[in-house]
Amino acid sequence: DYQAVLDTTLSHIQPLLLSGKVADYIPALAEQKLGQFAMALHTIDGKTYTVGDCQARFTVQSVSKVMTLTMALQRYEDELWQRVGKEPSGTAFNSLTQLEFENGIPRNPFINAGAIVTCDALFSRLGAPIYTMLEQYRRQSGNDKVVINKKVAQSEFEHRFRNAAMAYLMKSFGNFTNEVEEVLWCYFNYCAIEINCAELARTFSYLSNQGYCAQSQQQLLSAKQTKQLNSLLFTSGLYDAAGDFAYRVGMPGKSGVSGTIIAVVPGKFTVAVWSPGLDKFGNSVAGIAALECLSEQLNTAIF
Ligand code: GLN
Repeated sequence: DYQAVLDTTLSHIQPLLLSGKVADYIPALAEQKLGQFAMALHTIDGKTYTVGDCQARFTVQSVSKVMTLTMALQRYEDELWQRVGKEPSGTAFNSLTQLEFENGIPRNPFINAGAIVTCDALFSRLGAPIYTMLEQYRRQSGNDKVVINKKVAQSEFEHRFRNAAMAYLMKSFGNFTNEVEEVLWCYFNYCAIEINCAELARTFSYLSNQGYCAQSQQQLLSAKQTKQLNSLLFTSGLYDAAGDFAYRVGMPGKSGVSGTIIAVVPGKFTVAVWSPGLDKFGNSVAGIAALECLSEQLNTAIF
């Protein structure tokens, strides 16, 4: 009974709701308040279960990296891996250091450098990159009113220095095709897509459903590509805390600095959680605890 599991999860994480700190390196995100929580689970047979404040809207932040990768894989297939690696980084999401030693090839598509280079690849193939991405979220979430929070996108762009440094460093190694500033604007808009938990679980339901999205009625990735993407999420989705997340939760997952995390049980469901208090790795404290609690109750860890 998924509803009972979610209700138990909420009571379990209550004491943690004021833990952690909201992301403050993006001024518009610093306005989020601690104490908020929502969780939604979407099964492969199309049912959504929710708990907490599921009306609350937040920006997807780094969860956008999963969609960017999906859309880039649709267009490049394995050729994409010439520009970005598949290895865990063991460093922070916004780290620059490995780029210098690895010829401008980011370790994986889920750290900022990796997502920005994937965005550059996608940018080369999309006529209207921002609109096309937004449309895709609208179709997959089932809400055609999903919008981009322009205040967040603008705020990120104004404070883009670290992300810009990564992009220019990659460009110096020849691993960047388009205008850096244009691609960054696009990347920040992808991060600033605003959604609620139920919509987010539906948007990423294809990850639990062999690449098929029932809302948009699209086969987004092949079953094999979906399995590969989930494997990479398992090893790298939570940056330098991916090992701890694997140990505690045992599901492929992806976090974002707004305090959201998606996690997947292939063949069963996709779950999305949101609570803005972050740990030092930039992952939601209550979000991880909630997924751990859910996984224990359902015994869904894939091992
Ligand atoms: N937009 C954020 C950034 O580029 C995304 C980081 C994150 O969610 N970890 O810094």
